[in-house]
Order: sequence, then structure tokens, then C-alpha cells
Amino acid sequence: MLALGRLLELTLAGHEPAAKIQLTPEGSRLRWLTEGALEVTPPAAVDSGLDLLLSAGIHGNETAPIELLDRLLQDIASSRIKPRSRILFLFGNPEAMRRGERYVEQDINRLFNGQHDLHSGPEAIRASDLEHVSASFFNDPQRTRLHYDMHTAIRGSRIEQFALYPYQQDRPRSEVELQRLRAAGIDAVLLYSKPSVTFTAYTYSQLGAESFTLELGKARPFGQNQMVNLDLLEEQLKALIEGRDTPPIERPELKLFAVAREVIKHSDDFILHLPVDIENFTELPQGYLLAEDIASMRWVVEEQDARIIFPNPKVRNGLRAGILIVPTSLG
Ligand SMILES: [Zn+2]
Repeated sequence: MLALGRLLELTLAGHEPAAKIQLTPEGSRLRWLTEGALEVTPPAAVDSGLDLLLSAGIHGNETAPIELLDRLLQDIASSRIKPRSRILFLFGNPEAMRRGERYVEQDINRLFNGQHDLHSGPEAIRASDLEHVSASFFNDPQRTRLHYDMHTAIRGSRIEQFALYPYQQDRPRSEVELQRLRAAGIDAVLLYSKPSVTFTAYTYSQLGAESFTLELGKARPFGQNQMVNLDLLEEQLKALIEGRDTPPIERPELKLFAVAREVIKHSDDFILHLPVDIENFTELPQGYLLAEDIASMRWVVEEQDARIIFPNPKVRNGLRAGILIVPTSLG
């Protein structure tokens, strides 16, 4: 195997490789760009025209997708997979990965789309670097652009694997990409209706990629991810890398959700009336008192068939402490 196939090992050790460019016997080029970033270029004669950005470890302790990227890259570096697409492999937050923690100082996935200019520290610098390396990867407007940013959630979920689809005004949703997600084992997609500051919101709105944040199950330490089944996703990623179609697959229709409201924590008096271990996508009845805050502020569920995702009363004041979502359709 080519030494650059060990990008994860290099990244965890904080090592810069001696040889930054290596070629497989078939002529695919691996190029180390910066810490945790490696570009694969197939031979021009077999190039499918797809630019595929695969990122994981934006939250450093979310190991299952990090291990998935590691497997794919090792397969390429040992010619078990012969790429026909350009690929950018990115490990999002190397220092947090080394520490086995979600982040060092702050959540990097709130620092894109200009937010890194308003903050300092290692995550702000890294978010800026990730934007630059992504922008130079997606440099040819003639090519198809696709980005999967892979995560595992802090908490359990009634819907184990789901995707978040960013928002851009007047931009239609891609039915093809939604069907690809369904084939990849994704059960539900949350369609955002506002701009955001996540990595995929940046590549979607600024770089024109089809971009999805994938939540793939509950986070566990390295080597303990047997409960997170990524087989369908891995098969789809291999197909994308190899530039081939996959046979149609029998799976339930995707469930689509829209954001009804973001619950914002305004003060230290904020109380979220949910059990600490509540699962994502738990249904909440109409009339339910969801949260209370300073000055008798009350958050009551008014929406029908509402569900909660990403509840977190410990966020800083002014930030989102949960999202109320409701079923929707593409319409
Ligand atoms: Zn995450």
C-alpha cells in the first residue's frame, strides 16, 4: 500500500509525510495537501467528471465515519478500489481527533460561512483552512460536485441514520441525490429553510456542491463501532468513487422533515423540559411545554406531528438548544 493511504495514522500522529505525492500502479495520484487533507486524482482517461468531497471528524470523537474514510482511502492506496472520480478526503478537526473529544475550544461546525472571522482559536483557523482547501478542490465548474460530511450523534435516535440538507434561496432540491441517500441507508432528511454556518452549508451555498451532513448513529470510541452499520453507505461511496451505478435497492421511502422552529437559549435561566437522554426524532404532543426562559418566556409545542432533534440545554446563551421539526414533502 502507498504510504499516503495511511492518512488517518499520519493525522493522529501529527506527522507530515515525506513524500507528498504518490501514484498507484494504475496511475491514480494521491496528493497530501495539509494536515488531514488528501486529494485523489484518477487517470484522465477514466475520469467520470465527479468531484467528491468526503469529510469526517469535524467533531473529533465521531469515529465510525473516520474509520470508514480510512478504509476507503486504504483501498484506493492498495488498488482494491480503482477511482474514476476526483476525491478530497478531509479529517475535519485533527487536534480534537487526537484528544478523542468533540472539539478543543468550540464546535467547528458553527464556524463556516464567515463565522471563523468573528472567532479565534484552533477551530476558527481550521474552519478557514477547510473552506480554502474545499474551494480549491471544487475549481472546475464543468464538473459535478458532491459533498458528504459524516457524523455520529451524541444521543440515540428514533431514526438511526438521517441527513441534513442545507438551504439556498430558489435552489431546487436534487431528487437524484435524495434517492442516492435512500440507497445509502439514510431513512430521513431534514430540509433546512434558512442559511446556516455548517461545513455543508458552506460547500452548498458558496461552492455550488450538492452537500449533505449525514448523521449515522451514536458516537463511540475507536474500534467499538460495530453497532453503527455503514454497509449501505460504504457501498454507495465505493460506487461513486468507481464511477458506476448500483442496482436499485428495496428500502422504505425517505421521510422528509422541515424545520418548524429553532429553540434558542436566551439566558442562564433556560430550562429544557425533556429527559437528558431523550432520543432525536422523539414526537412531542401539541400543547407540550418544551422550555422556559428568562422573563416568563415559554416555548410551547403548537405544531402537529412535531419532533425534537439536537436538544442541548448546555449551549451558550444565544445559541440553538434544539430544533422542532415537522413532516414535509418536496411539493
Ligand atoms: Zn458531529
